[in-house]
Amino acid sequence: MREELSDLYQEIILGHNKRPRNEQVLDPCSYKAEGFNPLCGDRITVYATADGAGKLDRVTFVGEGCAISRASASIMTTQVEGRTISEINQRIGDVIAMLSQADEPEMDLAVEGDLAALAGVRKFPARIKCATLSWHALRSAIENRSDTER
Ligand code: ZN
Repeated sequence: MREELSDLYQEIILGHNKRPRNEQVLDPCSYKAEGFNPLCGDRITVYATADGAGKLDRVTFVGEGCAISRASASIMTTQVEGRTISEINQRIGDVIAMLSQADEPEMDLAVEGDLAALAGVRKFPARIKCATLSWHALRSAIENRSDTER
């Protein structure tokens, strides 16, 4: 079981791929960035709006890619919406570390929800970039605030 994604985790990922949360363009938006993973061909654009009190009240994505990249983006939107920028930056760092470092502790499905399902991807080094793509894109979006809304 440790060698592959468990059936439950796989089901969660395929479910998000088929019925993603928050898959839409936000226009205007406060933040926007595109992420591209040449290893797999995944291309995800992340959008966010800020509520004026330092929180991102909407976080959405659109993109083409494999099930893991789309599921990760979908899960990401549910994980960060309504949080402050600093909370989100912290969260992005934690998740990227969790997904890319085998010695990071695995997440507890009961506590972390669908995000824990993504952790299984670390056993497949070729797919890690699929899973971290949208998180990197959100980080770039926050760093390079777009000019569509001031
Ligand atoms: Zn991929």
